[in-house]
Amino acid sequence: MVEHVVVVGASLGGLRTVQSLRSSGFTGKITLVGEEHHLPYDRPPLSKHVLSGEWQMEQAFLADRAELDRVEVDLRLGVRATDLDVPSHSIGLHGGERIRYDALVVATGARPRTIPDTPPLRGIHVLRTLEDGLHLRAALETSAKIVVVGAGFIGAEVAATARKCGLDVTVLEALPVPLSRGLGPVLGPVIAGIHADHGVDLRTSAGVAGFEGKDTVERVVMADGSTIDADVVVVGIGVVPNTEWLEESGLVLRDGVVCDHYSQALGAPEVWAVGDVARWHNDLFDEEMRVEHWTNAVEQAMAVAANITGAPTPYSPVPYVWSDQYDSKIQIVGRPGPTDHVEVPIGAFDDRKFVALTHRDGRLTGAVGLDEPRKVMRFKRLMTTRPTWDEAMAVARELA
Ligand code: FAD
Ligand code: NAP
Repeated sequence: MVEHVVVVGASLGGLRTVQSLRSSGFTGKITLVGEEHHLPYDRPPLSKHVLSGEWQMEQAFLADRAELDRVEVDLRLGVRATDLDVPSHSIGLHGGERIRYDALVVATGARPRTIPDTPPLRGIHVLRTLEDGLHLRAALETSAKIVVVGAGFIGAEVAATARKCGLDVTVLEALPVPLSRGLGPVLGPVIAGIHADHGVDLRTSAGVAGFEGKDTVERVVMADGSTIDADVVVVGIGVVPNTEWLEESGLVLRDGVVCDHYSQALGAPEVWAVGDVARWHNDLFDEEMRVEHWTNAVEQAMAVAANITGAPTPYSPVPYVWSDQYDSKIQIVGRPGPTDHVEVPIGAFDDRKFVALTHRDGRLTGAVGLDEPRKVMRFKRLMTTRPTWDEAMAVARELA
C-alpha cells in the first residue's frame, strides 16, 4: 500500500509526477525535494525568451503557490538529497534529516559538462539554471562578441538568440557537422545553413585548447594555436546525469538510473526514475535510451504516476524534440540515426520548409521538420505503429 511518495528533483519531471499522481486519484502524502531555491520553472525559455529579455523570469515558472497548494505537496526547496538507503526505504537530506518513502521517484535531471582545467575567468558561462540564464542575459547586454563552444541544442539556440540581440556570434563545434548526433550528417548542414544566413560564423572540426584573459575572458585559444576574441563565452557541450547521490544505493547506474520498461529502477522495485536522469529500454524502438528533452520528462512522469497508482503500463514513447531558432521551429520525432537514409518527401531544404524522413532496414526511424508542425506530428502518431518505409511514404504522399 503506497501511502507516501517522495519525489527528488523539483523541476519539470518532478512537478509533473506530483500533478499526475493527484490527477490519477492518489490521496496519500507527497513530498517534493529540490536543491534549487526557486519554485519549479521551465528551462526552454532560458535559451529563448528569458535570454533575449522578452520574458521576465516569472514567466518561466511552471506552477504558482496556488497550484502547489491544490496538489497538496510537502515542498522542500533549497535542500539536496544526499543518499538513498533501499533496505530502510529512506533518503537522506543535507543537514541530516531522513525521509521514509513507500515509493520514490528520482527526477534529478542533469547538469552541464564542463571543459577540464577551465581557468576561473569571469565571462565563461554554462546554461542550465535560471541563475545561469539571468547572468548570461546580463552579459549579452554589455557584450559585442560571443563565442559558443558546442553546436548542440544549447549552442544553436544561444547563437540564434545572441544574433537577435545584435552580437557577433562564433560557434565552435568539435565534430565536422553541427547537431550531427541529433540530426545526422545530412540534416545538420541544413541547420548550419540557417545560422550562416543569419550571420553566424560556424566553425566545425574546431578543437578548443583553452581560454585567456586577465580577470575576464578575452579570447578562446584553439587547438591549432589560433585565437578568437570574445567578450563572453558559452560552453554547451552536453550534460551529465545527476546520480552521484545514488552511488552507494545499489541502484544500477550507467549514464543515468537504469530502469526496466516500466521506468522502475533495476534493483529497487519501489524506486522509479523520470526525465533526463532515466535510462530505460523503449520496446517500441527496441533500444535502451536516455532522452534529454522536455516532452519525455512530462510523458514519463505521467507513466510513472500511473504505475505507482496501480495501472502498470510499459513506457514506450516516440521521442519528440522541438527547438526554436530565429523564427524557425525545428522538430524531431523518433530516433533518426547518424547513418540512416534520408529523403525529403515534403517541401525542400532550400525552401527552409520541409519534412525529412529517415529510414533503416525498411522501417521509418524518424522525421525531422522545419516549420511543418502539423505534418511532423502526424509522423509522431504514425511511429507508434512501427511503420514500414512504404507505409511512411504513403502518408508522406498524402501530406505533400
Ligand atoms: P531537470 O530539469 O534537470 O531538473 C532536475 C532538478 O533536480 C533540478 O532542479 C536539480 O537542481 C534537482 N536536483 C538534482 N540533484 C538533486 C538532489 N540530489 N537533491 C535534490 N534536487 C536535486 N527540451 C525540449 O524538448 N525543447 C526545448 O526547446 C528545450 N530547451 C531547453 C533549453 C535549455 C536552456 C535547457 C537547459 C534545456 C532545454 N530542454 C529543451 C531540455 C528540457 O528542459 C529538459 O529535458 C528537462 O528540463 C528535463 O527535466 P527533468 O525534470 O528531468 O530534469
Ligand atoms: P548536446 O545537445 O548534447 O550538444 C553538445 C554538443 O557539443 C555536441 O554536438 C557535442 O559533440 C559537442 N561537444 C562536446 N564536447 C565538445 C568540445 N570539447 N568542444 C566542442 N564541442 C563539443 O548538449 P547541449 O547543447 O550542451 O545541451 C545541454 C542539454 O540541454 C541537453 O540535454 C539538451 O538536450 C538540452 N537542451 C535541449 C534543447 C532542445 O531540446 N531544444 C535546447 C537546449 C538544451 P559530441 O556529439 O561529439 O559529443
